Amino acid sequence: MIEIRGLVKRYGAVTALDGVDLRVRAGEMLVVLGPSGAGKSTLLRAINRLVPFDAGAVSVDGTAVPAEGAALRAVRRRIGMIFQDHNLVPRLTVLKNVLTGRLGSLPLLASLAQVFSQRDIDIAMRCLERVELYGRAWDRADRLSGGQQQRVGIARALAQQPAAILADEPVASLDPKTARIVLGDLRRAAHELGIAVLCNLHQVPYAREFADRVVGMRAGRIVFEGPCEALDAQALARIYPGLALEAALA
Ligand code: ADP
Repeated sequence: MIEIRGLVKRYGAVTALDGVDLRVRAGEMLVVLGPSGAGKSTLLRAINRLVPFDAGAVSVDGTAVPAEGAALRAVRRRIGMIFQDHNLVPRLTVLKNVLTGRLGSLPLLASLAQVFSQRDIDIAMRCLERVELYGRAWDRADRLSGGQQQRVGIARALAQQPAAILADEPVASLDPKTARIVLGDLRRAAHELGIAVLCNLHQVPYAREFADRVVGMRAGRIVFEGPCEALDAQALARIYPGLALEAALA
């Protein structure tokens, strides 16, 4: 579970997060919607302190996320991150990319030498199986399509055996068919592995299709929270003021 209380983040005169309270349950896929500049990305990055914040508190799986130090590194190991551009190492094999998800749990020397045990390799292969890329383990990462690379990114996050996954616009650069596969992978990871998944999206239709619960942000505040069935015209008008509904639904 991810628990966020009273989160405030300012960039000079801009208040990017204006007192955000939010809970993402274990086993839940929560989608955050909102116009550009609403604070979605800042919120996601504040959870593991990639963005330092001015006030508030975050905990993951009951452990407070501290500002720095070994304790912060320990909590970060329990949080998988998925970005729009997947950040794979192109020249490494798919399997090695997924194994980097295990690096955090190796003793320092083994980690420096990148010596992986058979157990780590088994875990990585099982994660590849989950995203249906088991057969591509020995291919170079840059031989895969964009959608497949994003799924390797998911396998790498799963290899951390995380309590939480944070996905920032994970399907922004993918075609609709591939986007649905990737979002389906994330939802299955939540439901089958009991991971708390927080996913920022631009597209309302995907939120409707894949979210267990939706949160709408605007100007650093949560202005809607509910199941996707409650995401009606009125809710959308609160999240996207002044925007034609057809545009939000596109
Ligand atoms: P979203 O992800 O919803 O598009 P962001 O979290 O990126 O929104 O941004 C929230 C607000 O914080 C915006 O007004 C944005 O301009 C501002 N902001 C984000 N990052 C920075 C930064 N590094 N420096 C200054 N302002 C920033």
